[in-house]
Amino acid sequence: MDGKKFDVIIIGGGAAGLFLASQLPSELSVAIVESNDRVGKKLLATGNGKCNLTNLDMDVSHFNHPNFVGSFLERFGARDAIAAFEDIGLMTKAIDSRVYPYSECASTVLDVLRRAVEKRGTHIFTGHVVNSIKNIRGEFEVSGEAVNGKRGENFNYFANAVVLATGSYATFGKDSTSLFAALGHTVRPMAPSLAPIRTNKEPLKGLQGVRVKAGVRIGERCEVGEVLFKDFGISGIATFNMAGELARGRAKAGDVLIIDFMPEHSKAEVERMLSKRAHGVTSVGELMVGTFHSRVQERIAWAAGCSFEDRAEEKIGAIADAIKNYRLVIEGVGDASLAQVMSGGLNVDEFDENMMSRKCENAYAVGEAVDIDGDSGGYNLQWAWSSAKAAALNIAARSKERKIAYDV
Ligand SMILES: Cc1cc2nc3c(=O)[nH]c(=O)nc-3n(C[C@H](O)[C@H](O)[C@H](O)COP(=O)(O)OP(=O)(O)OC[C@H]3O[C@@H](n4cnc5c(N)ncnc54)[C@H](O)[C@@H]3O)c2cc1C
Repeated sequence: MDGKKFDVIIIGGGAAGLFLASQLPSELSVAIVESNDRVGKKLLATGNGKCNLTNLDMDVSHFNHPNFVGSFLERFGARDAIAAFEDIGLMTKAIDSRVYPYSECASTVLDVLRRAVEKRGTHIFTGHVVNSIKNIRGEFEVSGEAVNGKRGENFNYFANAVVLATGSYATFGKDSTSLFAALGHTVRPMAPSLAPIRTNKEPLKGLQGVRVKAGVRIGERCEVGEVLFKDFGISGIATFNMAGELARGRAKAGDVLIIDFMPEHSKAEVERMLSKRAHGVTSVGELMVGTFHSRVQERIAWAAGCSFEDRAEEKIGAIADAIKNYRLVIEGVGDASLAQVMSGGLNVDEFDENMMSRKCENAYAVGEAVDIDGDSGGYNLQWAWSSAKAAALNIAARSKERKIAYDV
């Protein structure tokens, strides 16, 4: 296979690369070159193993570059992604607005993608780490090292079009955007976007491992959802979305992060509820029984500046305040090994509306390798599908034009 030429080489057999291959006409010879020993490894970990593949509430406000993403979503939005997956055999379902495979198993998504790319005759090279792309008079040479077996062997393949679908280094991925820097592209350094948040330790005492449904507020923005307390800070879906505020520079270390333990009630309502409970109880400890997880009760009392022995009715205002405004001080975003998504990547201004490079004709980038990141909830995979679909349609159209010109 060494030296073989293809119509298209896709570097990276993740969500975007596999979907792109599945959408290309079978007349085109396509190779996927993947560094892992199998394709779609990260896809299997998505949505806690369930793969939240898109969201019916698809709006540009969920992305860091709304203007850029808008036209991609207009052409290929959530409903189009669902239809495309149904076309290749996936049964889906929505839980609230989040869309999952009907099986709630990420492996089902990978199964249909693999079957679709295999059916169209895609060549899949696993264990192949690409370390160079060269544009030699309009033809691309993609080379690197095949790491299957004990000894690495060099490979080089050629193509008329090349697609960078290498994702990011969130969790167990890698950043290969430097491959496109060699074609003249600029890259915004990657930093964790959907990730846990590191905070001061005092308010976390004893809470490690406790999960609550709560509001997380930084400045004006508030997310309600699962919050998981860790020894270094907080995690969980609501936290992940708020970490995006830090990645986008709208919040910084030193800012206050508020946990609202009763997000569906105003502070006045919480006070009223506590006052009602206070009839017939004497101590703060008694007042708190039956409210929250026992360790949360202790920290709320601590934040309210009282002990369980204090008289309940004197502390109602302070306790209501601690329930609604449990303060943490942000120290930073958790590291990339704990992140789901990174912000940063290839500069979007250097790509057209089909994800073709403005620097190098017939070179495309899709998915998370590009500086687009979205909220938690299926938005990042939707970007993978939308960007890949736009590139696939353009590659197909340009290949057809090239063939007509050649035949004439
Ligand atoms: C734990 C976790 C849960 C997530 N859950 C969700 C979710 O439920 N919904 C959602 O929308 N998003 C979710 N995401 C984010 C989502 O998985 C990514 O945004 C998406 O996978 C990006 O697709 P991609 O194809 O761009 O990159 P990837 O899927 O990461 O694929 C990139 C591929 O390129 C390969 N590669 C990299 N460099 C090279 C190289 N030099 N040579 C050859 N191959 C290379 C990698 O090995 C990888 O297989 C989750 C992420 C994580 C980590």
